[in-house]
Amino acid sequence: MLHDVIIIGGGINGAGLFRDLALNGVNVLLLEKGDFSAQTSQGSSKMLHGGIRYLENFDFALVQEALEEKNLWLKLAPHLCSEREFHLPVYAGGKWPLPFVRLGLFLYDLLSHFQNKPAGHADKDTLLKRYPQINPQGLKGAGTYFDGIVDDHKLALECLWDGELEKQARALNYQEVLSVERGEIVKITTRDRLSGVIQERQARFVIFATGPFTDELMKQWNIPWEPSLLPSKGIHLWINESALKLHGPMVLPSQDGRVVFVIPQRGSILVGTTETPVDQEMFNIKATEADVVYLLKVLNDYFPGANVQHKDILNTFAAIRPLVRSASSSDRGKTSRTHRIFRPSHNMYALLGGKYTTFRRMAQDVCKELVPRLGLPYNPNMTLNPLRRPSVVGTFTHREVDAEKIEEIIRTERPRSFEDLVHRRLSWLMPSENLQELAGKPRAYWEERLKHN
Ligand SMILES: Cc1cc2nc3c(=O)[nH]c(=O)nc-3n(C[C@H](O)[C@H](O)[C@H](O)COP(=O)(O)OP(=O)(O)OC[C@H]3O[C@@H](n4cnc5c(N)ncnc54)[C@H](O)[C@@H]3O)c2cc1C
Repeated sequence: MLHDVIIIGGGINGAGLFRDLALNGVNVLLLEKGDFSAQTSQGSSKMLHGGIRYLENFDFALVQEALEEKNLWLKLAPHLCSEREFHLPVYAGGKWPLPFVRLGLFLYDLLSHFQNKPAGHADKDTLLKRYPQINPQGLKGAGTYFDGIVDDHKLALECLWDGELEKQARALNYQEVLSVERGEIVKITTRDRLSGVIQERQARFVIFATGPFTDELMKQWNIPWEPSLLPSKGIHLWINESALKLHGPMVLPSQDGRVVFVIPQRGSILVGTTETPVDQEMFNIKATEADVVYLLKVLNDYFPGANVQHKDILNTFAAIRPLVRSASSSDRGKTSRTHRIFRPSHNMYALLGGKYTTFRRMAQDVCKELVPRLGLPYNPNMTLNPLRRPSVVGTFTHREVDAEKIEEIIRTERPRSFEDLVHRRLSWLMPSENLQELAGKPRAYWEERLKHN
């Protein structure tokens, strides 16, 4: 079958493009190699944010756009996103003095057109009451401000479910693209990674939404392409809620000029992230011991009384930022998070860089050019409507999971492996490896059931 558009890659950018094209009446097929949102788009710090850190780089346009998007998604998908007050502690001799922090946070609110809940500050005594384990030596107080947290798997999944409500749109997981043959009609060969079935698919236009894998894939598929990425690895820890007494999320400036977020959520605490060159196979990227030790050190520098250790770690995860290489900097921390659209051929687009938070705007930049080329009018406001098909199991609203509910997920949300089911459909944080039973039935039962999905 000939499609108007094939999107390769089912992370948040593929999902955002898919939804926008589908809502604008485009016949679109999305092909994802593994499960949807199982690579970079599940490895983020799970924040919808403008990025206070980017104020330092004077990236005001990016911060403003991201803040607008953050505040939009808090309204459009309140079941997947939630607003939290962050504390940024300040110490004598630290990188940023308190008045400077307060000015920065005012600017942050200004860039949101004062749609953020207002920033403020906490004096030392208040901070010590709220965070009793924080190092009191040299502590001056903290700036406070509001950002969003998000279930990064589920927002991508729900963009796909929403797009699929349009009958001319379909998204398929476990379809690895093996080759892409250029021409007026682009021919794409795929292999189902679970059944082994090979198929040829055709499209008038192709969009590569393959994130950090793009340079490698373009070479593999013989597409004219200058390597454009500066891949940057970041890891996170989920730690036991009881390991640290927190009033709410914190942002901790580290000695190497980065910031580490500490965000209580879903009965655990998320700690991250790092920023290092990529030294492993990208598709199976993992946290190393050095990465873990780095984050534990930052935590214990700030909370010496807590003495967080390896035994407090419930799980770790890693991902690669698809940063677009810039001529002016090879420093990953300073490389801009703005996105870029490439046109490797007259009927091909590649969408790279950006932030999770800005995926809707990134998709618009492609769609506003592509949809008219298909002879259709483009309405950018279609994606301002709320998502229409919420996941069977929510993230922040705890719901009991019984076998009936899991059957519903299998029927409607297309998990194809036990990991998909546990990790991305049920949003459980623990590794699924050791789970031998689910909703009163043995793991083998569910694995057999998923085989037919
Ligand atoms: C450590 C870290 C923390 C971050 N924190 C935040 C944050 O808090 N807030 C924020 O806004 N942004 C954050 N980001 C950025 C954000 O996560 C990314 O910009 C975003 O997830 C990129 O999405 P993507 O769809 O481009 O890539 P991906 O999610 O990687 O999607 C690309 C997809 O292409 C698929 N693919 C690859 N090869 C093939 C093939 N042959 N056939 C078919 N499919 C294929 C992959 O399987 C993958 O699913 C963070 C990033 C990192 C790494």
